Formats: sequence, structure tokens, C-alpha cells
Amino acid sequence: MGVAMTSPAPKTYHVKNFGCQMNVYDGDRMAELLGAEGMVPATDPAVADVVVLNTCHIREKAAEKVYSDIGRLKRDDGSRPVIAVAGCVAQAEGAEIARRAPTVDVVVGPQAYHRLPEMLGAVAAGKRAIDLDMPLDSKFGALPKRAGGQRPSAFLTVQEGCDKFCTYCVVPYTRGAEISRPFAELIAEAQALVEAGAREITLLGQNVNAWNGEDERGRSVGLDGLIRALAAVDGLARIRYTTSHPNDMTDGLIAAHGEVAKLMPFLHLPVQSGSDRILKAMNRSHTTDSYLRLLERVRAARPDIALSGDFIVGFPGESEADFEATLNIVDAVRYAQAYSFKYSRRPGTPAATMDDQIADAVMDERLQRLQAAINRHQHDFNLASVGRRTQILLERHGKRDGQLLGKTPWLQSAHVIAPGLAIGDMIDVTLTEAGPNSLTAELLQTQDA
Ligand code: SAM
Ligand code: SF4
Repeated sequence: MGVAMTSPAPKTYHVKNFGCQMNVYDGDRMAELLGAEGMVPATDPAVADVVVLNTCHIREKAAEKVYSDIGRLKRDDGSRPVIAVAGCVAQAEGAEIARRAPTVDVVVGPQAYHRLPEMLGAVAAGKRAIDLDMPLDSKFGALPKRAGGQRPSAFLTVQEGCDKFCTYCVVPYTRGAEISRPFAELIAEAQALVEAGAREITLLGQNVNAWNGEDERGRSVGLDGLIRALAAVDGLARIRYTTSHPNDMTDGLIAAHGEVAKLMPFLHLPVQSGSDRILKAMNRSHTTDSYLRLLERVRAARPDIALSGDFIVGFPGESEADFEATLNIVDAVRYAQAYSFKYSRRPGTPAATMDDQIADAVMDERLQRLQAAINRHQHDFNLASVGRRTQILLERHGKRDGQLLGKTPWLQSAHVIAPGLAIGDMIDVTLTEAGPNSLTAELLQTQDA
């Protein structure tokens, strides 16, 4: 149970993220926090002094991964780094982690990671540090200003937590109650991200469209008000947001899709199931019909919008007819992309103790059929984009000489041969070919090389 070190102070860190984009954001903030302490990143955990495993608890498999990762951190010479377990597994399992994995030095929940440096200090002094607080004062104020060298497409967490309590989901327990970060703090962070190299910002929240606050003149605004203010930030070219809940999709936000040019034509709006009986058992508080009517209004505001969603197959009690209703909604919406998951029984959630849990083999078979339908629509959406003139934001180098990869406004991956151009450039292209997962683009001219 001894800790890895008593001195000297650690010099290098490695943060490994699991799970959602909100974890990527938190992982970046932890890296910046350690950077502000004078530590430098190590690309390989095998040589880092401190390894932070930023974990996900949403499904059982994701939660179990952390334990195998902890085991792998032991080195051939018997040494190991200082190990910090952060994120939702830390929050949900807390002391249990310390029991199952005695080599873990730090256990820190998603609302307490601003205290990581002091916790590492305690470890250096020979103690183990556990902090699962969900303090009322936000961690964000205690974090350093955004560091330079941001990716062209950056994340900005604007809202955290969830009060919806879908019966299958751990988020309300691991991330706590819904909170919105203040307007002025978000505008300042967006400006800092743009100064540090971001061209696109994706606003994040478990229910991002539940964000609300007061603008610079003290008026109550929703996410659409925040988006309109961000659109005025010089140098910011694109705005996205995820993940939305159907019940928080306001008229103002729908209108913003037709009115704010920088707001990209993409909406991730999970429905989870196409069966009203299952939606009720999930406590989703929307029906398939209300969801489809909502999408009609969104499409009326922004006809070319690309739609995305999340689906769970095999929720307790899901019959073949319920599942077919899910296939029907996929065909009705014609998603440009979507995520689908096998139901995972999460301890402490109401669904975990419901009767009629579905056998794994049935879930596997349904998942395959669902994914085939989603893939077909995704390919169709990509094929329908061929011939479009549009812009892509270059985000990374491809495998071939002079090849760069980026995203279209509809969040499709596109690759282009563009020698001389750089990551972060926004370029004019024609989309010339479509595969199931990506598009080929041809350069028209550089806009701002
Ligand atoms: N708040 C968003 C919403 O309600 O649409 C979703 C956030 S959740 C972190 C991401 C996705 O994980 C959910 O939309 C759901 O499809 C999936 N998910 C959550 N709990 C799950 C479980 N117990 N088993 C399988 N998938 C789950
Ligand atoms: Fe989980 Fe989303 Fe439901 Fe909240 S609204 S409980 S985050 S699935």
C-alpha cells in the first residue's frame, strides 16, 4: 500500500482520457494545471512521473478498463509512477478503488480536480489523497487561464451535471446536479482559446442546451444567447454544441440554427429508443412523436442540418416490437451519424433492478441490426454531399504526402491533398467522393493560409 515516492517533486505527467468529450476537456484542464506547476507532458506513460487516468463510468466495460490500466503501469524494474484516478469511476467507486488497486495514490472526482497539485503534494509527503467533494464553489475559478497551443477545434464545458435521472444513467450521481457556468467566464475562456489557436469551439455539457445565465447586461439568456455572443468573438469561425436533451431544445435555440452563420449545421439530439413504452420506462419525458415534431422544426429552421443521436438497445423489457420501433425512427430521421450502445446495468440506477433484463446475445444481435441501419443512412448522407462546395477546417495530417484531414460543417471527416497548407487553416473545397465514414475533398482556393 506504500506510495510511489516521497521526493523529489514529479517533473513529468501523462493524462489518459476515457469516455466522453467532457473528459477530454477535463483532461486538458488537468494537464494545464500540472503545466502551471512546472511539470511537462510525457507522451508515454511508461516514462511519466505522474499518470492521471481520467475515467468513465457510463458503461460497465468503460469502468473496468481502468483496473487493467492500473495494472499495466507497473514497470519492468518493479517501479511505477504516481497514479491518480480521476473522473467518474473515481467519483462512483472512491474508496473501493483504493481497496481494489492499492497502488493508486490519488483518487479525485470530476468536481475536485482543481486540487490535484495539492493532492500530489500530499503524496510526495508519503500520504494517499482522496477527494470526492462536490463543492458549491466551482472548480473553474481555481483553474489557470487556458494555455497556448490549443487544437484548431477546442472544447469548452459550459454546463455540468444532470437533473434528469434517466433510469439507466449514472451521470446524475457521478457528475452531480445541473450547473451552468457564468456567461462572462465563458466568453473570457472562449477568447483565450481563440488567442491560443482555436478556430472552432464545441460547447459541452451533459445537457448543454439546459445552459442558462445572465448576459453582460443582466438579461436572462439560454444557450442561444451564449452562442450569439460567442459568434461576435473575432477569429472564432465555428461554433458547435453537444449533447442536447430534447426537452431543453428551445424556440430560441432552434431559431439560432437559421440565423447564426457561425453555428454549424449539426445537431446531436439523442432519442435512445423508438418505443414510447421504453422511453417511459427510461424516464426520458419525451415521446417519439414529440421528438420527430421537434426535428421537423429544426429542419425548417436549417434545412441542411445533419442530425445525430444516441441509442440504447436491450433496455430491460425491450421486446422485438420495441426494437423494431427504434429501427423505424432511424429510418424516419435518416441520421447523418449516430452512436448506439448495448444497455449496461449500472449499480445504483433504477433500471439495474428492473425485471426482464435482456440477454447479451439478444442485445448483440439488435445492436448489429441497428448499426447496419445507422451506417446505411450515414453513407447516404455522405453520398448526398458529393458535389457540394464548402469549407473544411484542417485538424491533422493524413497518412499520404501533403494530405490533411478536417471536418465539414456537417461534422463529416474529409481528406484533401493540400501541400503547403497547415493545421488550423480553413479551406474552400468541393466534396468529390464519399465513403461510409469520410469524404474526399478537392481544394478550390485557400481562404486564410
Ligand atoms: N445527456 C445526454 C442525453 O440524455 O441525451 C447523454 C449523455 S450520456 C453521458 C451519453 C450516452 O450514453 C447516452 O445518450 C446513452 O445513450 C448512453 N448511456 C448512458 N447510460 C447508459 C447505460 N447504462 N447503458 C448503455 N448506454 C448508456
Ligand atoms: Fe444521463 Fe443524459 Fe439522462 Fe442525464 S439526460 S440522466 S446525462 S442520459
